Amino acid sequence: MSTDADVNASAPAGTDGLVMGKDGMAALVDVLIGRGFTVIGPTVRDGAIVLAELGSADELPYGWGVELEAGRYRLRERSDGAAFANAAGPQSWKSFLHPSRVREWSADRVEGQLVFEADQAPPPRYAFLGVRPCDLRAIAVQDRVLTGGAHRDPGYDGRRSGALLIAVECTEPGATCFCVSMNTGPAAGPGYDLVMTEVADDDGHRFWIRGGSQEGAEILAELPGRPADPQTQEAARAGVTAAADRMGRTMPEADLRELMAGTLDAPRWDDVAGRCLTCGNCTMVCPTCFCTTTEDVTDLTGDHAERWRLWDSCFDLDFSHLHGGPVRASSRSRYRQWMTHKLGTWYDQFGSSGCVGCGRCIVWCPVGIDITEEAAALHDWAASTGSPEPDPAGGDGTP
Ligand code: SF4
Ligand code: SF4
Repeated sequence: MSTDADVNASAPAGTDGLVMGKDGMAALVDVLIGRGFTVIGPTVRDGAIVLAELGSADELPYGWGVELEAGRYRLRERSDGAAFANAAGPQSWKSFLHPSRVREWSADRVEGQLVFEADQAPPPRYAFLGVRPCDLRAIAVQDRVLTGGAHRDPGYDGRRSGALLIAVECTEPGATCFCVSMNTGPAAGPGYDLVMTEVADDDGHRFWIRGGSQEGAEILAELPGRPADPQTQEAARAGVTAAADRMGRTMPEADLRELMAGTLDAPRWDDVAGRCLTCGNCTMVCPTCFCTTTEDVTDLTGDHAERWRLWDSCFDLDFSHLHGGPVRASSRSRYRQWMTHKLGTWYDQFGSSGCVGCGRCIVWCPVGIDITEEAAALHDWAASTGSPEPDPAGGDGTP
């Protein structure tokens, strides 16, 4: 895998990669499977483009695009046969690196004694095919959260350290995308093992693929294709540049960390609380949200018990439950906590934004709450009341 530390530094010097057709994509999946990888990539299922294990490149969503809006997701057919001209679907790679349900241990009563067994099955070696630039950054964010401190998550570490990342640059942003505002796309940043840009024009449907790590370069050497020609490179770069100009959403041009800290008392929090169902969908689909809870279960005899780790959400009342009740009892406080953490206090904790601009929380919010619209409203309120200064008391005191 590539990490921030070896940021594509091992890409072979002087190579512009290959241009390959659909046969090259088929070969790529075959080579990955032949090398022992479990290949995960986009495929059409249940009316959406989901991430799932691929047995062959035929399962990629060739000829499918998506229409995205706040609270709305629809598939649509494309005439150009492109496989990756579709923006983020409902899942992100955290579903595999940081799964929603993990059994941590089980225990059995054997002759009056409790015998514990840790779940230590070795993780599969994943190859993630089609990692968007925003999601590449989201993986780096989760790396920092889950393995970057004193208390590494060994399960995440095991799954992540073996993972091969094959990025695909974006040429078709969705109406809810704002990676440009968050400086995470549509060109791929560091961290990939291979990167592709898809081109479908009068010269045909093809993929420009380059290596980003030693392992990526070795895989590249096994693929059929021709040396990258200047026309394809130019068309690919133009496609990515055009995508940057077609972002569906933008964040206000402001220091978002300061904006969050200076607007804790804004009336907009009451407004959004009146619409938010506190369902937690936004946290489930967000590629950087990482919170978990623990659940212990037993069978009816009481002779077998298991401990599970499950995704949790700061929108859940129990999430902030201390003795005496939840600290954040109101919808207002829970939405404010989520958004100010994403865009503000994440910097204090982890040194970056917690939002990569993928737009999933906008699409999958059942009532269409839009984080960019909320940020813009806070920005307008701050402008109307004078420049925001971070409130040292942490707002109006309402949790
Ligand atoms: S913002 Fe939308 S998705 Fe998030 S908790 Fe509220 S209603 Fe659910
Ligand atoms: S907060 Fe929303 S737009 Fe930002 S990374 Fe999470 S899901 Fe994507």
